[in-house]
Formats: sequence, structure tokens, C-alpha cells
Amino acid sequence: VWLRVVDLLFPAQCGACGAIGSGFCDACAAECVALTETRGALLVHGLGAYDGPLRRAVLALKDGRRDVARALGERIAPRTAAGALLVPVPTTRSRLRVRGMDGVAEMARAVCELGDRTLREALVHAGTDAQRGRSRALRLSARGRFLCSRRFHGERVTLVDDVCTTGATLVDCAAALEAAGAVVREAVVAAIAPKQRDP
Ligand SMILES: [Zn+2]
Repeated sequence: VWLRVVDLLFPAQCGACGAIGSGFCDACAAECVALTETRGALLVHGLGAYDGPLRRAVLALKDGRRDVARALGERIAPRTAAGALLVPVPTTRSRLRVRGMDGVAEMARAVCELGDRTLREALVHAGTDAQRGRSRALRLSARGRFLCSRRFHGERVTLVDDVCTTGATLVDCAAALEAAGAVVREAVVAAIAPKQRDP
């Protein structure tokens, strides 16, 4: 009920063009050409290139816009498989502190709320407080910047992130998950940027 009151007071607004009604409107979404690219061993599915309206929407998401996160989640949902286990790439604590919202987790949550997908917030940044008190086995499953906080038993996992550029983050996350027993072959992101350019 509370959420509905909030929706009435602050209706969703397109993060790219400002139109009222959705955090990423149909007109802006229609400008996107869906992409699938490879990064390492991963197939990365995106709504489109990191450009134009999609770039503006992703920047709004990074700026803490929940309505934009929800709308992008609804848009990426069809690019995930039925029954998929979704693991969001974790936001750094400092970013979370500043923005008050984990946009990527919110996007993944919106996908799962549409049904038949399961959210597993299994990754944390390595070398943070979150690492304390973990078992040695889990600490050993850390790869690069990420640590997996749970065990998997061969389940297939799909990573979720906002933007993919070089893919280094996704590849590190996949390695941490695979060290914890998951199988990771795919990622779904809002936007894919050319490998040679930083977003
Ligand atoms: Zn728009």
C-alpha cells in the first residue's frame, strides 16, 4: 500500500526523456537495438548499446532512480531464461551509502517479481567487512574483487549488471561464483559499451 501512495505522489518518469509513466518509456526503448556479445566465456545480453536514451537511463539508474531501475528490470526480463537464478553484480558500499539504493539489485528484483526467476544476492566485494566471519572455504572462493557468500551445487546462474564494457567485472564475478560451485555462462545487462571505451 505504501508503495502505491509513493507511486501516486512521485509517478515514474523516464530516466532518458522525462516522460511520465515509466522509468524507461516505450519510445526510448524502441530506439534500442538488442545486443548479445561475448566477454571471456560469457554471453552478455543487453537492451542495446551504451548510447543515446539508454545511456541517459543508465546514468539515472546510477544516480539512484528506483523507477528507472524497475523499468530497466522489466525490459531485461525477457532476455533472461525461465527459471533463471539471477545474481546481481554488487554495488560498492561507498556508492550504496551515497545513493541509498543498489540499482543493479533493484533491477534484478524487478525481473524476479515478474515471476519464474529467483534472486540470489550471493556476491560481495572482497576485502570489505562483509568478508569477516566467513568460513575459510568461502574466503577461498574469492576471485579478484568479489567473494561468493553461499555454496552452489552446479546450478546455472545468470549475472545481472547495468553496463558491460570490457567485461572484467562480469568475468571476475563469474569466477567467484564458479569457485563456489555455480555454472555461469550468461549475463544480462541494460547496456553494452564498446570494449575500448570506459562508460
Ligand atoms: Zn523516454
